[in-house]
Amino acid sequence: MIRPTTVATPPREPRAGFGSHLARVTSRCIAASTAALALGAGLARPAIAQAKRATVEVTILKAARLIDGNGGPVMAPAMVRVEGDRIAAVGARLDVPAGARVVDLGNATLTPGWIDLHTHLTTREDVHWEEGLLKTTPADDALWGAKHALITLRAGFTTVRDMGPNWPYVDVALRKAIDAGVVPGPRMMVAGAYVSSTGGAGDALQFSPYVQVPIVHNLADGPVEITKQVRTNFKNGADFIKILATGAVLSKGIPPGAQQYSDEEIQAAVTEATRWGRFVGAHAHGAEGIKAAIRAGVRTVDHGSALDDEAIALLKAGNNRTYYVPTIGVNIAMLEQGDSAVIPASELERSRKIRPIMEAGFKRALAAGIPIGFATDAPVVPHGQNAREFRWRVALGATPMSVLVSATKLNAEIMGWQDRVGTVAVGKFADLVAVPGDPLYDISVTEHPVLVMKGGVIYLNEPGARR
Ligand SMILES: [Zn+2]
Repeated sequence: MIRPTTVATPPREPRAGFGSHLARVTSRCIAASTAALALGAGLARPAIAQAKRATVEVTILKAARLIDGNGGPVMAPAMVRVEGDRIAAVGARLDVPAGARVVDLGNATLTPGWIDLHTHLTTREDVHWEEGLLKTTPADDALWGAKHALITLRAGFTTVRDMGPNWPYVDVALRKAIDAGVVPGPRMMVAGAYVSSTGGAGDALQFSPYVQVPIVHNLADGPVEITKQVRTNFKNGADFIKILATGAVLSKGIPPGAQQYSDEEIQAAVTEATRWGRFVGAHAHGAEGIKAAIRAGVRTVDHGSALDDEAIALLKAGNNRTYYVPTIGVNIAMLEQGDSAVIPASELERSRKIRPIMEAGFKRALAAGIPIGFATDAPVVPHGQNAREFRWRVALGATPMSVLVSATKLNAEIMGWQDRVGTVAVGKFADLVAVPGDPLYDISVTEHPVLVMKGGVIYLNEPGARR
């Protein structure tokens, strides 16, 4: 998963978090972390001559085609001019200014940087989250989170909505470090901490009642406690609220389908988040929990496994107030891991049962033509393999173009970040991915990007794979 890279160009115009000084720091960090992560992979290309330049760097990307994220016709051939951290021009043929760096991507296809609406970057795939509460520290998760952030970025995902850490607010620290240019990673929108009921999917259920498990301090029951937890999360740096509306596959106790928070409790979270000008993402598998979350006005129904016709009608009636954000790959990835020590047999069995339900819900949504957000639940799908979700969705009947639009323009709209990311358009951040060949003919090429740029900085550049 770790590949050689060439880095990096300093963005122009100092701007909070993306100034030229910070870009230099970022560049050094990328080189250092990449080298550290890829020990023995023969890479370590030492830092970057261009980083010393103070002037605005202009980069021209040339590719055989461009899918701009809007779902319209493919531009072929295509060129994108990047100035500093922004897209400055897009066209079939552009003038190349003197001194510009030209990156010729050959037979590759450029797309906007991809967005994953459901990650847990600070969570390891080889540690069950409940075990982690007893055997790891927030510092462990922060360090692993930095590793996962780079892997995810280099897999083409330049933005994530992170759905909650094991240790509260470690995701806030990671987001701050990335925004400050200290650690390379995707742009992050973070949940801070789960809002879960006692005995719910966010509670630790496999221990003796006499064992004090730290996450228990995050639990909230009833509208008053939920309101307080929402306020606490925002105070501590969360960007949005993640609530667990139903049971979970990776959690003992209440079945994944059963509603855990009452209608009134979900409503309390939405009401308070709305006061802050923010939104709620609801984990929900069962039909009743899905519908309660939609009625309460959450922004996203995540997983959404047992999506039925009534839920689809509610989504349509809400006129894009709430979006369905399935995670098709979770069950496939979990079952692939089989009898690993990490996932108990009882949870694998749940996954086996829920898979056909989730896939039927997805097909129902496709047939109804509702917008479908793109998400993976990494590390259930291992970090850096997020793009496999494209293939799994196409196998269930989605078109390659529709899944690419889901992971770009649509996801940006769901996050409310359509002003800065999601399409290849002048003025937006220069977040771009190039994949070999044409993903409309073979969507699996998304699993092997040849170039990843975020904010004008190149984090992956593999010339050999482009022809
Ligand atoms: Zn999750």
